[in-house]
Amino acid sequence: MAEPLFDPAAFRLTPEEAALTAKAREFGEAVLAPRAASWDREARFPTENYRDMAGNGLLGLCIPRAEGGLGAGFRAYCLAAAELGRFCGATALTWNMHVCSTLWTGALSDDLEMDPALRDAHHARRRLHYRRILEEGAVYSQPFSEGGAAAAGAAAFGTVARPVPGGWRVTGRKIFASLAGHADYYGILCTEQREGEAPLSRRDTLYLAIPRDAPGVSVVGEWDPLGMRGTVSRTLVFEDVPVGAEAALMPPGLYMQAASRWPHMFLTLSPIYMGIAQAAYDFTVAYLRGEVPGMPPVKRRMYATKQIAVAEMRIALEQAKALWFQAVTEAGPDPSPEQVQRAWAAQYSVMENAAAIAARAVRTCGGQAMLKSLPLERLYRDARCGSLMLPWTAELCVDRLGRDCLYKKGETD
Ligand SMILES: Cc1cc2nc3c(=O)[nH]c(=O)nc-3n(C[C@H](O)[C@H](O)[C@H](O)COP(=O)(O)OP(=O)(O)OC[C@H]3O[C@@H](n4cnc5c(N)ncnc54)[C@H](O)[C@@H]3O)c2cc1C
Repeated sequence: MAEPLFDPAAFRLTPEEAALTAKAREFGEAVLAPRAASWDREARFPTENYRDMAGNGLLGLCIPRAEGGLGAGFRAYCLAAAELGRFCGATALTWNMHVCSTLWTGALSDDLEMDPALRDAHHARRRLHYRRILEEGAVYSQPFSEGGAAAAGAAAFGTVARPVPGGWRVTGRKIFASLAGHADYYGILCTEQREGEAPLSRRDTLYLAIPRDAPGVSVVGEWDPLGMRGTVSRTLVFEDVPVGAEAALMPPGLYMQAASRWPHMFLTLSPIYMGIAQAAYDFTVAYLRGEVPGMPPVKRRMYATKQIAVAEMRIALEQAKALWFQAVTEAGPDPSPEQVQRAWAAQYSVMENAAAIAARAVRTCGGQAMLKSLPLERLYRDARCGSLMLPWTAELCVDRLGRDCLYKKGETD
């Protein structure tokens, strides 16, 4: 049995967090790990894993307890996601998109301003989505990216929703849509375009759950990437898709309020790569000790070069873990500029250190360790994807951090 990624006593986890992370770790080790190589080899969606997660409650991790879910908050989600990420990056990354659909509409939305009538309407609608998940095992995805500046938060989404009586008609295209063809509902971000209004404005962003089989929805293109192959992130096309008012995952305007007041919501991809970094380190230690199952028990730990490499990997891992844990712990509404800067630094450190640790693991363990019969080469390829993920890519984190450290609000040159 793997040791906890964050020891409950050392990191002072709550009893609920300790129990949820133990559940995720046990499930990851027993169910996800043995299957991980096959999704990767075939670039196939892990449907069987989702069936098992529906059975053990993990699909409802962040659905409030009052609604029948496990009631995990932001930090508990992050810790559980990191544990899953150790065992199957692609399953954990797609599960992140599903669970965040419930976290953002649940605990996170509860921190935002809404007048009482709007909050009641939001609660009634989200209950419908939660019921689908808990009772029917429905899976939600989060296809936001379009290949332009919108997913980076720099422009309005080009996918548009035209209001019609009882809902909208949606037209657009989403690239890198993880779970394409496999989620039951695509939770898209789009821009409401009212008659005669132009240009599109980010203020009019809508967050809508479009049923997979709605007329006008199609999945196109190939999926044969370097890593995270089981995510099946093909292109989604929406052609004048009729969508009812009940599809709104958030009321109009609420997503933009969330993005500006609860920016740690964009840190939610990082746990998966925190888990991958730990897995690459754990593999290296086991390999050098001659303890990898299926391999001859040859020890390589006595060489000084290996010891130095492991020490440096461990330092990079501890740096990422400590900073990430602090950022995850202080996530909440209206963070200070320093807290937002720390969140960017944490995201950058996890994504870049995961890739660096996995690369170092390959070099340190050597040729036999990068065979496809072992998980390390998959960890290496999956780890490389973290820095590319919008809206907080490694480059964008550096970009924003540098600017924000040097300019106070409102300052220009
Ligand atoms: C395995 C995997 C799964 C994914 N799943 C999903 C998903 O489910 N949903 C989803 O919405 N997306 C998903 N993505 C998409 C991901 O978040 C990126 O949007 C995607 O990689 C698009 O890349 P691009 O080349 O079009 O990025 P571009 O927009 O061309 O950006 C390239 C790089 O330029 C930099 N850049 C971009 N905009 C700016 C700017 N305004 N200022 C400064 N620098 C900038 C960034 O560093 C960025 O990485 C996934 C990606 C991967 C790799």
